[in-house]
Amino acid sequence: MDTDTVGIRYGSSIAAAALTGSLLVVVKLTAPYEMLLADRFVAGAGWLEIALLATYAGWLVRKFRKGADPRLRVGIWLMFSIVFFTQFILGVSGLDRFLLSGALHIPVPAVVIAGPIYRAGRFFMPILFLSTVVLVGPAWCSYLCYIGAWDGFCSARKRRATPISTGWTALRVGIFVATPATAIVLRVAGVAGRPAGFVAIGFGVAGAAVMAFVSSRAGTMVHCTGVCPLGLAGNLLGKISPFRIRIGNSCTECGRCTAACRYGALDAAHIAKRKPGLTCTLCGDCFVACREDALAYRYLRMSPESARILFLVLIVSLHAVFLGVARI
Ligand code: SF4
Ligand code: SF4
Repeated sequence: MDTDTVGIRYGSSIAAAALTGSLLVVVKLTAPYEMLLADRFVAGAGWLEIALLATYAGWLVRKFRKGADPRLRVGIWLMFSIVFFTQFILGVSGLDRFLLSGALHIPVPAVVIAGPIYRAGRFFMPILFLSTVVLVGPAWCSYLCYIGAWDGFCSARKRRATPISTGWTALRVGIFVATPATAIVLRVAGVAGRPAGFVAIGFGVAGAAVMAFVSSRAGTMVHCTGVCPLGLAGNLLGKISPFRIRIGNSCTECGRCTAACRYGALDAAHIAKRKPGLTCTLCGDCFVACREDALAYRYLRMSPESARILFLVLIVSLHAVFLGVARI
């Protein structure tokens, strides 16, 4: 194997492992309390956890590089969410080593927007969300969100995505406006944390029902594209990042990718314009469906392959870091 081949084959894995390891080392050395779970049980074991997560990131990039795989993406996303919620359940059951700091917040994405407005403080989650948006655009909603993973799981139960009514789009815009407005009203009215929390839980339960009964029948992520206000924030703010999906001239407008896109971002009009709609989260699932190899990542002047590798290194590293430190 010549040096170039080795560099191409292993470079992205080494980059992901190094980035994951570096980020986790910074977290370990600077966080005000033990962030790595292993450190909470055996002093110093966090270094081993960092090594394992860095190795995992390197391995995962290699898997993705072999070709976009929607099942792998949904699988690792769901695994992250299961780890996240298992820690949450153990934490609220009294094993507080599984909680982040002990300051609980409700794990509903709308609370990332509404919570800091209601409390006028605790901006950690919005800052974390915005940091990912700067790095990987709207890909929070296809790799990182602990709730969206379940909408991905429900929609994947059907083989093909089917179009959903435009009424859902209008509903999401309404919820996007209503979310901060509700937080302001609750704050100004002096509503206490517990009843305010019930509003958030009710919203979360309604969202779960949409996943279970609507997304699973449509094969499309109706919760994420038709309900969740944080998803719309990601779609809009995601334009800050230069990452884009573009459809090249080899496209024959066969429509195969339409059924592969769980985010409803590739209808005939989008394909004709050679770019996905606003709801695209850069997930990459559509690549597998295209026989003409017409879909590609773009990032400034990079070649499509370099842009894809950069995206994979960043998103896989964030996934591995979240796996290690994301908890409530
Ligand atoms: S749309 Fe909302 S629930 Fe879905 S992935 Fe994005 S933030 Fe999470
Ligand atoms: S257009 Fe492609 S990359 Fe964008 S959300 Fe749909 S399947 Fe994912």
